[in-house]
Amino acid sequence: MTDETNLGEVNMKIDATRAKSLVEALQSVQSRITKASAGRNVRLVAVSKLKPASDILALYQAGQRHFGENYAQELMEKAEVLPKDIKWHFIGGLQSNKCKPLASTLSNLYLVSSVDSSKKATQLNAGRGSLSPSPSTPLNIHIQVNTSGEASKSGVTPGVETTALAKHILETCPHLHLLGLMTIGAIARSKAAGEGEENEDFITLKEERDRLERELIKEGLLSVGLGEGGEGGLECSMGMSEDFEQACKAGSGEVRVGSTIFGLRPKREDFSVKGDVEKGKS
Ligand SMILES: *Cc1c(COP(=O)(O)O)cnc(C)c1O
Repeated sequence: MTDETNLGEVNMKIDATRAKSLVEALQSVQSRITKASAGRNVRLVAVSKLKPASDILALYQAGQRHFGENYAQELMEKAEVLPKDIKWHFIGGLQSNKCKPLASTLSNLYLVSSVDSSKKATQLNAGRGSLSPSPSTPLNIHIQVNTSGEASKSGVTPGVETTALAKHILETCPHLHLLGLMTIGAIARSKAAGEGEENEDFITLKEERDRLERELIKEGLLSVGLGEGGEGGLECSMGMSEDFEQACKAGSGEVRVGSTIFGLRPKREDFSVKGDVEKGKS
């Protein structure tokens, strides 16, 4: 059974069985977040990379608004056919030359979580600034921090690199808003962190956030820190399918959950925005 939704040019088929299981998975993740975060508000980003637009629409119809994508081209294709009040998050490895097109095309790009250089911040700022009509809010930014020190992970090194990038954004990028810090972290550390023990990547990111807030307050670039539980200040984005509850307990302001909601992802070469990627689906 399918439900056809007419969105502008596009007729999108939503498989009712698929929609039901997606919505159940979303609700289950949401209630686990609520339990783990003790009344704090934690943003759930549904990571929809390599999943069809119809999956996103099914969750949208259930009220989900924050969706995360890893590939600029894929994000732009999806955004074009999906509702304009979706809040898109770009969370993937970002090439400098994609920053400006992304920010200048997508007025509902909400947050770029993977900024790790001044050059990229400058390009995003220029892109956001050239949007017309000009949006009422700046583009939110997370600085990606490499908390595990793994060569395979992108992100700035904690310390002077984070501070320099934060100052660059605050002082020279009026169309950007520095919302916080993001880490991916090492899977091994997340697995090793047993009950009652905290994930080292989460500890490192929180310490880096607290250090950065102190530094920025000292320089008059930030008025109040979040480290002490205050409003304003910088959030931590940490926690994925394997460890989002741990992350909520550790004080994360945002979790990015993909496979626990959408199921395993196909290979990138097998994916198409419009097509059903699951085999054997009618
Ligand atoms: C893919 C991805 C996620 C989601 O991963 P899951 O393990 O499927 O939840 C979160 N954050 C980033 C940066 C990602 O690339």
